[in-house]
Amino acid sequence: MQQGAKDPKSPIKVINIVGGGTAGWMAAATLARHFRGHDLSIRLVESEQIGTIGVGEATVPSILNLNRYLGIRERDFIAATGATFKLGIEFSDWYTAGESFFHPFADFGAPLGGIPFYPCWLKQYKLGNAAPLSEYSLATALAKGGRFAQPDPDTQNPLALYNYAYHFDASRYAALLRRIAESHGVRRIEGKIVEVRLDSSNGDIRSLHLQSGEILHGDLYIDCSGFRGLLIEQALATGYEDWRHWLPVDTAVAVQSERAGPAPPYTRATATAAGWRWRIPLQHRNGNGHVFSSAHMTTEQASTELLKNLEGSALGEQRVIRFAAGMRKKFWNRNCVALGLASGFIEPLESTSISLIQTGVEKILKFLPDLIPEQKNIDEANRLNRQEYERVRDFIILHYKLNGRDDTQFWRDMRDMAVPDTLQQKMDAFTEDGRLLSFEQESFQEASWLAIYDGFQFRPRNYLAEVDKLDNKQVIRAMENMRHAIATAATHAPPHHTFLRQAFLQPQEA
Ligand code: FAD
Repeated sequence: MQQGAKDPKSPIKVINIVGGGTAGWMAAATLARHFRGHDLSIRLVESEQIGTIGVGEATVPSILNLNRYLGIRERDFIAATGATFKLGIEFSDWYTAGESFFHPFADFGAPLGGIPFYPCWLKQYKLGNAAPLSEYSLATALAKGGRFAQPDPDTQNPLALYNYAYHFDASRYAALLRRIAESHGVRRIEGKIVEVRLDSSNGDIRSLHLQSGEILHGDLYIDCSGFRGLLIEQALATGYEDWRHWLPVDTAVAVQSERAGPAPPYTRATATAAGWRWRIPLQHRNGNGHVFSSAHMTTEQASTELLKNLEGSALGEQRVIRFAAGMRKKFWNRNCVALGLASGFIEPLESTSISLIQTGVEKILKFLPDLIPEQKNIDEANRLNRQEYERVRDFIILHYKLNGRDDTQFWRDMRDMAVPDTLQQKMDAFTEDGRLLSFEQESFQEASWLAIYDGFQFRPRNYLAEVDKLDNKQVIRAMENMRHAIATAATHAPPHHTFLRQAFLQPQEA
């Protein structure tokens, strides 16, 4: 071993995190909490001058696990971040203009005679005996009615099972995470990194040089510097796998606005001529954006479309953000792990970026036992990370591939494109007899795939033969009972804003 080089088997003693956006503070809080009591110092460098991306406000249910792990009480979280509840996403104008469907964080119906609900429904639907699939989902009924109640964690009733996530103000969330990280001993350093030096003996990152003159040495570096990938790309030249041939949307205009009316408990994604608009309701405002393909639409057109459709007046300036769908060839390269936008980006159609940060951090914890890095663990972490990104990518591509719009070249091109083999395989299995193939490391489970297939009216040719063993009349009656029970339960839940105010925002006895 060269003099001064670190023994590869010795434990990591210093972790430097670069970036204080959502990714940086999520990593700092989680690592500090996990490695409490170890001989480890964690520092986070961020630059107010550079700032953060300032978007990223809709989440998926796994955020609840992170909050629980960090000991954040839901009540404190909701008050601190201006959060609202999210039961899923409404997709408007995706299949055809004027039609919408809902992707709930929940399954549909309940099994009948030991057979999953979907094939039973499919048979009856084909026979004209069933209502649309969405009517068998309590989460969808709640969302449509603008209502919310928390699911009973002890319920045995499959119809009453659903998950939820949140919409929140990302900068306030980062501030909350920062307090937790600092309470566990993380040291924050304000300053701009102007140089990253590599170790000439092995190519690892050796030091970070700040504009102030301060130099930081460390054993592990976490790159949370955003799209620029200051360490993973600019210093280590890891390489980027570009997926724009499948996901050509590459620009966003974003603006906050006043909210007119009560906050609905869901995100809305509305398809436009060459992309889609989001509306994310927080307690105190809406987050809005228009994500589009710059090859098919100008920024001016996208901006006009966005402003025209705001519900209340715009708050502040519009921001233009450019990106390329894809991922770093390795998210863990040498002594550097990239998280958040530094590691890759898939457009926010299903609000997946924050959950990918979370699973990225989990990989560091899992594959760095006792803080000792091993190449075989790093390779496995990279393999799993890639797989996870690819699964999310496939799920997002599905939304475009199944579109039924004929109004613009963009939508026709998206429908005609060849999709990745992994996605084609899934679509083929489903078309045949409704089989939902699920692979290792799926962020989206079967129910989510079903919601999208059905929303786009992409239905199997055949239903499972097993279904014919059930008595038709009994199935029809059971399904009708389910639908009725769901509609009734939904109308008994309070309006979302009432629930928020009464359960979370009013002072309560400790
Ligand atoms: P950033 O927020 O960009 O933070 C980078 C940090 O690095 C900053 O603190 C900066 O100061 C620091 N930094 C950079 N260079 C230096 C330097 N030289 N010296 C010191 N510090 C430096 N995700 C979701 O989950 N849900 C959504 O709804 C969603 N919507 C999105 C919409 C759009 C249009 C985009 C582009 C992204 C969206 N995302 C969403 C993704 C989400 O915004 C990010 O995953 C999340 O904010 C994490 O960003 P980050 O921390 O990686 O980067």
